[in-house]
Amino acid sequence: MKALLLDGIRHFSYVDVPIPSITASDQVLIQIKAASICGSDVHGMDGSTGRRIPPIIMGHEASGIVSAVGPGVRKVAPGDRVTFDSTIYCGECFYCRRGEVNLCDNRRVIGVSCQEYKQDGAFAEYLVVPERIIYPLPEGVDFIHGALTEPVAVAAHALTLARLTPGDTVLIVGTGLIGLLLLQLVRLHTSGTIIAVDIDEKRLALAKTLGADVTLLADKETGSRIKALTHGRGADQAFEVVGSEKTVAAAIEGLRKGGRLTLVGNLSPSINLPLQSVVTRQLDLQGSCAIAGEYPLALELMAAHKINLDPIISKVAPLKEGALWFERLYNREGGLMKVVLEL
Ligand SMILES: [Zn+2]
Ligand SMILES: [Zn+2]
Repeated sequence: MKALLLDGIRHFSYVDVPIPSITASDQVLIQIKAASICGSDVHGMDGSTGRRIPPIIMGHEASGIVSAVGPGVRKVAPGDRVTFDSTIYCGECFYCRRGEVNLCDNRRVIGVSCQEYKQDGAFAEYLVVPERIIYPLPEGVDFIHGALTEPVAVAAHALTLARLTPGDTVLIVGTGLIGLLLLQLVRLHTSGTIIAVDIDEKRLALAKTLGADVTLLADKETGSRIKALTHGRGADQAFEVVGSEKTVAAAIEGLRKGGRLTLVGNLSPSINLPLQSVVTRQLDLQGSCAIAGEYPLALELMAAHKINLDPIISKVAPLKEGALWFERLYNREGGLMKVVLEL
């Protein structure tokens, strides 16, 4: 089969490799139809994150057709249109038994190679995954949109953790892909003011069309502007979808006393935290990692056209052009958002 192999630092080859085979009774062979490029693939391809050690076939956001199944598989059959979780969880550890599959002790992320493991991913014609992480694509969700189920579910997980109440004012810091998906989900759950903050005017314009009431270009006045929009208090809830010191500080500053901050971005491994502001204003800070059960919700919203994916898909290109699109994304060319590779 053909595969887009990361075989060096920022270097790809479009190669022939053997079709992976089913080696356990619960495994499913999927013929990949579409796989989208994640920011973590783009950041990882230069070796800086330690999570894409070459050689590795990346890709953890994908959709396809079931091609063959192991003898124990019951949920899906050859010919079914499917997507799958980006995380292979064991289903048996302490966390899996609590339903916290995103925290699985034996978790392996598809398309990732790090010190602990290497798990080839979906930038290839075929992929084998266990049945428990597979979800059928509903009618009306095509392969291109289906490949974006994973980021929609990532946003849905953050939304679940935030426990919004219907009148909450919400601040979203960062209007990249996940920020814009979160914005749309938040819009479905609150009638309160949604304020989106970013440093990119084009993305803010998009945020406005996707449900933000107010968009702010980040500067020194951002904090006071947010206060002015929220009865002088600050927002009830904030989502941080960048992961840098400045943006976390902006999210903290934009919250009211007793407000909740859900942290999704993690670009910087560590930052300085305005600790006194968090403690003395009794803020509730929490991290949100990956997905734990939000796939059905994500697919339901996509099938009902409650999430608009088209404005955030910048390009659909054939897999063999993958190297070119990775390089363009790496160089931040032309405000590209999501690039989906097709087979
Ligand atoms: Zn991803
Ligand atoms: Zn587990």
